[in-house]
Amino acid sequence: MSGDLTVRGLTVDFDGFRALSDLDFTVRAGELRFLIGPNGAGKTTLVDVITGRTKPAGGSVRFDDHELVGRREHRIVRLGVGRTFQTSVVFEQLTVLENLDLAASFRRRTAGLLRRRRGVAAGVAAALETTGLAALADRPAGVLSHGQRQWLEIGMLLTQRPRLLLLDEPVAGMSRVERDRTGELLREIAREHTVVVVEHDMEFLRRFASTVTVLHEGRLLCEGDVATVRADPKVQEVYLGR
Ligand code: ADP
Repeated sequence: MSGDLTVRGLTVDFDGFRALSDLDFTVRAGELRFLIGPNGAGKTTLVDVITGRTKPAGGSVRFDDHELVGRREHRIVRLGVGRTFQTSVVFEQLTVLENLDLAASFRRRTAGLLRRRRGVAAGVAAALETTGLAALADRPAGVLSHGQRQWLEIGMLLTQRPRLLLLDEPVAGMSRVERDRTGELLREIAREHTVVVVEHDMEFLRRFASTVTVLHEGRLLCEGDVATVRADPKVQEVYLGR
């Protein structure tokens, strides 16, 4: 399966402040990778560089055989890289289905391929199925619970047919039941996609993460399974021990 992400020697400067420093980061196709680190560690900056929003001072980001550094954001979307934002993109007056249709039509426009229309409809149906929102398809998005709304946003992203998904704190503010459902959803999505999740919720990581990457002050602090990462004295000092 295609979808390897390979970051090498990535350095990002903001007016002389080094937000990422010579960072290497590799995620294999089909992996579900969690990215953690204290505030200011550089997690959002890394996602911003991968998606073309921030230009690095140096280094490379390869997705499959494509170099992403230097490409415009919409071109990177077209290569199959999609992200969620902390701010909501859902239209409350529109139904769940209409929101998904709208997201899919955005893809149709960016791809410029009207002949893919049938493929788009199938993508909407698949997103409804995957997110478990089929029974709510005709409800206005405004009546969804917080968790359902997050799943809708992930569904909207899926209609764009990304191969790499970058998700920003998907379980923030969710109930325990919603977090569990989200963990299962992420595992399901990772069966066919490469998934990178920025997440702080340690209990959630313990239950659903296999490999965790810890950033600190723009550098890679530690990487491994949850138990290894939690036991690492460096991680305890800067992150877990607070
Ligand atoms: P995280 O997502 O891990 O909390 P960020 O990537 O948002 O960390 O930020 C990393 C560091 O870079 C922080 O010190 C932050 O203040 C700084 N930073 C991020 N974006 C900018 C920017 N546009 N201008 C200046 N400094 C920034």
